[in-house]
Amino acid sequence: MTTPQVMRIMALSINTAARAGSIIREVMQRGNLGIVEKEGKDDLQTEADRSAQQCIIASLSRKFPNVKVIGEEGDSNLDVKDEWLISEENEEFLTHKCPEDLREVKEEDFVVWVDPLDGTSEYTQGLLDHVTVLIGVAIKDRAVGGVIYQPYYKQTNGSLGRTIWGLKGLGTGGIEPKTAPKGQMIITTTRSHLTPLVQQALDALSPTEVIKVGGAGFKVLQLLEGKAHAYVFASPGCKRWDTCAPEAVLEAWGGTLTDLAGIHYSYAANVEFKNRMGVLATIPEISHSDIAGKVPKEVLEALRS
Ligand code: AMP
Ligand code: MG
Ligand code: MG
Repeated sequence: MTTPQVMRIMALSINTAARAGSIIREVMQRGNLGIVEKEGKDDLQTEADRSAQQCIIASLSRKFPNVKVIGEEGDSNLDVKDEWLISEENEEFLTHKCPEDLREVKEEDFVVWVDPLDGTSEYTQGLLDHVTVLIGVAIKDRAVGGVIYQPYYKQTNGSLGRTIWGLKGLGTGGIEPKTAPKGQMIITTTRSHLTPLVQQALDALSPTEVIKVGGAGFKVLQLLEGKAHAYVFASPGCKRWDTCAPEAVLEAWGGTLTDLAGIHYSYAANVEFKNRMGVLATIPEISHSDIAGKVPKEVLEALRS
């Protein structure tokens, strides 16, 4: 029996995300980050973003030439060094059973959204545990699978890095999701892109605590680690590559990630990249629609305009 494409794409993404993570560590160790501003000082790119993206796009495109792969750092040169090319699919992942409804999906129906380094501001500031590599696997327009690699996560044996994955209908791997404490409302949000509108949305939800960390990947991990109940970001600053993998991982656990109006983003190949209506993510125990219902109309209108 042939292995379903979704399992193979996820299994290659798992190994590729870890390789991209080791490139991120190598660039930091060499010490010359090669920082450039993309659209101003709030939008940086480093040598690590560029090289990690090349590794991921080239590896996925070689193995799955008919899959559309969209990366944050634009078109990449596919002619990369051999040591950046990953062709082995993760064997442990392939021991899992493919969800029935995903068995027959054809290569042409996949869109892979790549954020080679999420949390670049934090990376340049030395807040390394906020950094993640994100590979999101969409089928037609829905986020279905995701890989989140944390290059600086300290394992108990002292080694660095861990991989978390999620596939709808199968569940999550690499983490035992925990639920944040009952009776509180801990919200995680941006630390480097705070605006009055972001603050207005937070205030309306009466949080018992607000934690500010970098990256969309790391914030969703706060939800899976039982450190927060919701991720709220009333800003058009996130793009599809920031949310595709986190959405799939969170939803594979039973949580929800949408825009601030409670509507899922489309991850089809032809959509605009900006998540114009912000981000709202909640853990399974929280009513997502209740929280979406508390977002002030003025906030939604400000995002729409
Ligand atoms: P943050 O929560 O601020 O760490 O942002 C999560 C992701 O969205 C990161 O990849 C940021 O680079 C991106 N992002 C958020 N706001 C902006 C912005 N105003 N300009 C550029 N990128 C942004
Ligand atoms: Mg990002
Ligand atoms: Mg990035």
